[in-house]
Amino acid sequence: MLHKNHSLKKLNTFGVEAKVKLFAEVFSLDELTNLFADEKVDREKILVLGSGSNILFTKDFDGLVIKLSSSDIKIIDETTNTVLIEADAGVIWNDLVKFCVDRNFGGIENLTLIPGTVGAAPIQNIGAYGHELADYFDSLKGIFIKSGNRKTFSKSDCRFAYRSSIFKEEFKNEFIISSVRLKVSKSSKPNTSYKGLSDYLSKKEIANPTIKDVSDAVTEIRRSKLPDPTKIGNAGSFFKNPVLSENSFRSLKAEYPDIIKFSSDSGQIKISAGWLIEKCGWRGKRTGDVGTSPDHALIICNFGNATGAEILEFAMRIKEEVANKFGIKLEEEVNIF
Ligand code: FAD
Ligand code: NAP
Repeated sequence: MLHKNHSLKKLNTFGVEAKVKLFAEVFSLDELTNLFADEKVDREKILVLGSGSNILFTKDFDGLVIKLSSSDIKIIDETTNTVLIEADAGVIWNDLVKFCVDRNFGGIENLTLIPGTVGAAPIQNIGAYGHELADYFDSLKGIFIKSGNRKTFSKSDCRFAYRSSIFKEEFKNEFIISSVRLKVSKSSKPNTSYKGLSDYLSKKEIANPTIKDVSDAVTEIRRSKLPDPTKIGNAGSFFKNPVLSENSFRSLKAEYPDIIKFSSDSGQIKISAGWLIEKCGWRGKRTGDVGTSPDHALIICNFGNATGAEILEFAMRIKEEVANKFGIKLEEEVNIF
């Protein structure tokens, strides 16, 4: 059913108001196909929404917003060591993590408590605590908005990269993911090498953690560090961590010896965007109802009734100062509309 002039305020974790011309909640690919055939729907103006935890609405949207609410998780195939699981796009990501943890299937426990839906997880190849979706991804299915053609994407088709995929680049806002398949393990040992995680487990004297121990640890660490979007509006990290060449990093290190580096998959050097922002004095800084979290400079918060446009303006001021001080252009992780 199509709802007219619908409010998105409760459908985005920044909690900003934006009105959409048409809104529909759908539960299957067939329902989507029927919706596309509706004469009121302009296929040039369609936006898919999951939990709204990685999106900033800066204005009203003169088109159709579709919320996918399909919610099935099933085991497709099982071998001695692996399990192939298919989850609908509307499944809450953390419910899929729990499904695996409860059955002692290993792989995605480091991605516990990342907000959002399964359908959005491939868009930016969600990652945390040393793992990313691509490590366990098998394939996904969905439909192209303009043509209505259905397609299955293999892992290589998706062109996963650091917080990116083909769906954030070439097919940005062109393809709707309806289900995702992951291959998880029945025999792997959890990976606890990420510093924040290993420190936590040592402190708790857990020497040989189970998959559940790791999931519980990540839950506790995240709850202690990150603002809860049900209480304070935010969309997690606003910017990606910049990836630099060896040369650029060396000149930065000469000026800022305390800068921390991490190796990236491409052999380049990843540095912390949070550190750059903090060095510019923006940790805990506020303008009206917009500010960075006092605990985490990379998280921009709506502390009250900020608008999307005010949040974007605040983010652009941070971006400008980081560019002026370090010569580094931060790239938004949050999807801006
Ligand atoms: P939405 O915000 O609804 O949508 C995000 C984008 O995906 C939009 O462009 C939308 O159009 C598109 N999209 C959504 N569903 C579909 C679909 N079915 N088909 C096609 N396109 C679709 N991210 C991390 O990677 N790691 C983290 O550790 C992490 N921590 C976070 C912590 C907090 C407190 C918050 C608020 C966010 C965090 N995020 C993190 C960001 C966010 O959780 C992820 O990006 C998540 O995958 C977004 O899911 P969503 O369903 O809310 O997507
Ligand atoms: P943190 O552990 O101190 O990490 C700060 C930053 O340094 C992270 O962005 C992380 O990069 C990078 N980093 C730290 N250790 C690393 C390592 N061993 N190898 C490679 N990179 C490393 O603090 P945090 O901000 O609470 O983050 C914890 C984890 O949760 C991180 O993986 C982070 O990505 C994730 N997280 C993501 C979001 C989001 O919205 N995207 C929000 C909150 C937390 P990576 O981001 O590449 O991991």
